[in-house]
Amino acid sequence: MLKDQDRIFTNLYGMHDRSLKGAMKRGHWNGTAEIIKRGRDTIIEQVKASGLRGRGGAGFPTGLKWSFMPKQSDGRPAYLVINADESEPGTCKDREIMRHDPHTLIEGALIASFAMGANACYIYIRGEYIREREALQAAIDECYDAGLLGKNAAKSGWDFDCYLHHGAGAYICGEETALLESLEGKKGMPRMKPPFPAGSGLYGCPTTVNNVESIAVVPTILRRGADWFASFGRPNNAGTKLFGISGHVNAPCVVEEAMSIPLKELLERHCGGVRGGWKNLKAVIPGGSSVPLLTQTQCDDAIMDFDWLREQRSGLGTAAVIVMDQSTDIIKAIWRLSKFYKHESCGQCTPCREGTGWMMRVMDRLVRGEAEIEEIDMLLSVTKQVEGHTICALGDAAAWPIQGLIRAFRDEIEDRIKARKTGRTGAMAAE
Ligand code: SF4
Repeated sequence: MLKDQDRIFTNLYGMHDRSLKGAMKRGHWNGTAEIIKRGRDTIIEQVKASGLRGRGGAGFPTGLKWSFMPKQSDGRPAYLVINADESEPGTCKDREIMRHDPHTLIEGALIASFAMGANACYIYIRGEYIREREALQAAIDECYDAGLLGKNAAKSGWDFDCYLHHGAGAYICGEETALLESLEGKKGMPRMKPPFPAGSGLYGCPTTVNNVESIAVVPTILRRGADWFASFGRPNNAGTKLFGISGHVNAPCVVEEAMSIPLKELLERHCGGVRGGWKNLKAVIPGGSSVPLLTQTQCDDAIMDFDWLREQRSGLGTAAVIVMDQSTDIIKAIWRLSKFYKHESCGQCTPCREGTGWMMRVMDRLVRGEAEIEEIDMLLSVTKQVEGHTICALGDAAAWPIQGLIRAFRDEIEDRIKARKTGRTGAMAAE
């Protein structure tokens, strides 16, 4: 179990003073100028050495991403954009950082921006996060007053401005290029890549988009050392991580733990276990609604990290763990996600615009058992035609949960269709 002294987020539950004074007491903003004086290359090397991988879902190595930014400016400014849109169903970890430990993020923004040659950072926060925005803005204002932001920020010699931008509640604006469009005042629609944001991002300038948690952990990594961070988790899956556990556990929570913690340990130690006991578990979505579910048998040995979950054809995603016990109508649960993705599709590419609606309508009938057995494979084949054929990953996100359902619970789907035909009620949908 992660020891208290190894926790990066020391005010995750808002039990302590979240103001600048309180944050400084807990060690934040300590020696920030000295860290910056190590220089751009050293900071990037140290972040690379720590093994930090992006905490927003894709798990791309953070230091490597930073190194894609131009070393020399061609006259255009560079930007850091922090993705605080956090709209993936089940995901609620970054909000705890922003409302209770906002200084971790702002200090991280300064250091990361310096490492990428950016004098400005935009934090794009989800529309529904009103209180989080207030807390974060109050923290930004405090930093300006204390000279930690602005000209010669934190006496580092680096000029740095930090702006908070409030979204309007569209899930797609969490996709990095849609987020940039939205930030520019346009409709939040993903851009084709290339060009990648590091070459041409916000206002056509070099930009890196990082998740809140990825940035917020950086100051502590640089203070305590890359080796310290790398000592948690299995190789290639380093660090501590915020897990957000919801659904059928006795005590849902957000908790910082070491990466690669077994799922069973995570649920039993921090969430009071599965409602009705481990044997009552039906399935777990381990990384936010877009990743395929794990069956109970897989959960027995599940290790919560990028590589193990990918080997199981699932994913760590945002580490938002959605637990479902035996009372769950699993077909209906996945249908609900299909409905979400259909609603959130921006509609600019055909496989996603048409496919998400098509998949949802078939799922709708599968919930009621009003389908033919052959339609299960037909649905699977449609998911494959959507997957990988769209501009952004929303198409994949809509396809994967259905693929996971069919892989693991085909019997249950078939049973329901047969029950409908024979009038048997046991396998019918939950109300
Ligand atoms: Fe829009 Fe969907 Fe295409 Fe993404 S995959 S660009 S959400 S239509």
